[in-house]
Amino acid sequence: MNKKEKLALNGGFPIRDSYLSYGKQSIDDEDIKAVTNILKSDFITTGPAISQFEKEIAEFVGAKYAVAFSSGTAALHAACFAAGIKENNEVITTPMTFAASSNCILYVGGQPVFADIDPKTYNISPESIKSLITEKTKAIITVDFTGQPAEYDEIISLATKHGLIIIDDAAHALGAIYKDKPIGSIGDMTMFSFHPVKHITTGEGGVITTNNEDYFEKLQLFRSHGITRDSSKLKKYHGPWYYEMQELGYNYRMTDIQAALGSSQLKKLSNFLEKRREYAKKYTEAFSEIETLITPYQQDECNSSWHLYIIQLDTARLKTNRSEIFKALQTENIGVNVHYIPVYLHPFYQQIGYKKGLCPNAEKLYEEIITLPLFPAMSEQDLNDVIAGVKKVISYYSIDQR
Ligand SMILES: *Cc1c(COP(=O)(O)O)cnc(C)c1O
Repeated sequence: MNKKEKLALNGGFPIRDSYLSYGKQSIDDEDIKAVTNILKSDFITTGPAISQFEKEIAEFVGAKYAVAFSSGTAALHAACFAAGIKENNEVITTPMTFAASSNCILYVGGQPVFADIDPKTYNISPESIKSLITEKTKAIITVDFTGQPAEYDEIISLATKHGLIIIDDAAHALGAIYKDKPIGSIGDMTMFSFHPVKHITTGEGGVITTNNEDYFEKLQLFRSHGITRDSSKLKKYHGPWYYEMQELGYNYRMTDIQAALGSSQLKKLSNFLEKRREYAKKYTEAFSEIETLITPYQQDECNSSWHLYIIQLDTARLKTNRSEIFKALQTENIGVNVHYIPVYLHPFYQQIGYKKGLCPNAEKLYEEIITLPLFPAMSEQDLNDVIAGVKKVISYYSIDQR
């Protein structure tokens, strides 16, 4: 075995000379110009760029309303407020997600209830949701994991039957399609995040889209201290200066600087999506011949937005565990990641009483997955490096090392 074939971690040469991150923004001169234009204008916050961006997002996802926030997490907090989730309410969600999908329930005093995932799609299992609905259940927070839509036909039918609100954490799913419908107005409220690793970025930022006017108004109120100046909504009137704080809101506003960046990025979204889909397809084709590796299963009638590309290792047939393969790929200069640590395994959730073993499918999956780099600014060469790196590492651990 020569140095090139030998794992970097064993003293060989890495597949790549420079480190490739797993996700990254694409910012061009047009984006920079959009931002500098705002900096030179009268409003850098609470100006017209915000409603412009909201209008464009709503249009793109086919929703009536959009409310922009300072982050996706703030947007989820607002959605839980608008949904009226309170103490003594249970909200069912998936553990295979970023902590924010569940933290937002705690912010408003609700109780997260974790439903297990479908081991094939990695999305929340409708069967599991069904088994967890009680008198106290108020809402379901779905996550379109990796960009693949959750199973909405079944989830909506459960929600309708039990009078539950669906909040879709679609941080991964801007541009995803579920049975001819874009993600964005399938749930009662849908959240998109504009963190730099997501499909488009505003630095930090997020949005809720909805078709419901009542939610729309509550979201706007919550974003800005619970304050309204709308004369039709005031309870009293002291004079033209008068405004009222009617709810305990926050300052969760997005700036015009961010919104202008968002509008500029949105123009490129279809190109970004195309690249992600093309790269995902190439990964799947390249890995189809590796028997110890499971490529992402895709549901019929859905079109994923491919936020993440996750490989699942058939660890029983490998001569090592996920951890070793992860380290080997990192040493090959491939920016791998793991999405996600099941939320309730975090020390905070353990401390408030959640127990290991709650969702066996999610816990098993967690031990077997690795996220590979996937973002539109990646070059064809980067993609080929990842493929070569994965093949090198997996084949090394698939053969007998005596
Ligand atoms: C990114 C992400 C969030 C949080 O969004 P921020 O904009 O970073 O606050 C929430 N849920 C999921 C699934 C995410 O991937």
